[in-house]
Amino acid sequence: MGKDNKKQLDTLLAHASSGPEPAATSLIRPLHMTTSFKLPSFGPELLDALLMESDAPPYAYTRWGNPTVKELEEKLAALEGAEAALVTASGMAAVSAVLMGMLKQGDHLVAQELCYVGSQDLSGRHLKQYGISVTLVDTTDVKQVEAALQSNTKIIFAETPSNPLLRVVNIPALAEIARRAGVYLVVDSTFATPLLQRPLEMGADFVVHSLTKYLNGHGDALGGAIMGSMEEIKRLRKEMIIHLGGAASPFNAWLISRGLVTLSLRMERHCTNAMALARFLETHPAVKRVCYPGLASHPHHELAARQMSHFGGMLTFQLNEGLNAVIKLAEKIRIFSYATSLGHPHSLLFYYPTDIYLDQVEYISPDQKRRIREEWMGEGIVRVSTGLESADDLISDLEQAMESK
Ligand SMILES: *Cc1c(COP(=O)(O)O)cnc(C)c1O
Repeated sequence: MGKDNKKQLDTLLAHASSGPEPAATSLIRPLHMTTSFKLPSFGPELLDALLMESDAPPYAYTRWGNPTVKELEEKLAALEGAEAALVTASGMAAVSAVLMGMLKQGDHLVAQELCYVGSQDLSGRHLKQYGISVTLVDTTDVKQVEAALQSNTKIIFAETPSNPLLRVVNIPALAEIARRAGVYLVVDSTFATPLLQRPLEMGADFVVHSLTKYLNGHGDALGGAIMGSMEEIKRLRKEMIIHLGGAASPFNAWLISRGLVTLSLRMERHCTNAMALARFLETHPAVKRVCYPGLASHPHHELAARQMSHFGGMLTFQLNEGLNAVIKLAEKIRIFSYATSLGHPHSLLFYYPTDIYLDQVEYISPDQKRRIREEWMGEGIVRVSTGLESADDLISDLEQAMESK
């Protein structure tokens, strides 16, 4: 091969058949798997692309914005009834962006004493490093939240139903407290999805979701989202995603957009399966306790029934025989998988050794720990994410796995 020929091939490798196909009429919006966009030539449009001052600046770089990510943002904003949505690389990127973006040194946060471990460590440990003070309370107790407010409180953060304890927070009551105190209410509504619970309509200022869970629903992509007012979402995008870098992959956004199409069908099945499993477990002699907001025995059942249109796909239970029984259960399950995460098509089961966990968390008071243990956890709980399988098969699987032999 001649030298010139090789040079031509090198250029061809980079350029042959690349570039957009403007005439294509694909019904599904294409995946814009690109980091960069052809910029407008020098002038006001280019400045807007680079400085992002307008509401819809031209695309420049995918960390700043991407049509596939934007498509998902538009869907999520519409679903949650928000002015705007910001899609992030993971649920934790969304939680950290809203907390770090809204709080500054000297501010105070009231957050949930026990919730998703990432959010909890962020509030309990990391925010303090930035001069933000934090009070962790049981956010299901409105009085505790009210009592924790200070003159410098800026945010009340609550997760409902909470991970993994399935505690249900009274959103309208917290929204009222937040409104009176002039602070923001941020609700992590991951377990509920926009179909089962409407935090913004109940007065919350921001909703966050881990899209990794039900909204994607297929267990194959991480993602997160914040929904709120146009003005604040625009600022969070600039300061927290563009500068701190937690931007979503367009591929993940594309997968999540596709997953969303079947959300309603999937949630119906998740919810009916969870109810069937909860009822089965409640009557099983090896089971000490079942926690599912749809059961009348759940301490917040009435609130959940008022606030949610259905009770979700998550439940927890405790076994009489404790950890040894759980180890056997994990070995014997065939249809369930022993795995963390939730909202997959497959049913997942995961053991929280809550005693060990609580012992190593230094930022929750001994009193709080005692109460959480007594009221919610015992020495450990099995968390179940019910999948889309037949409820009968799931029940049979647990039944055979819990046989004492
Ligand atoms: C999983 C989860 C998160 C974190 O989401 P990632 O996508 O794993 O970062 C936050 N909040 C809740 C309630 C969760 O279940």
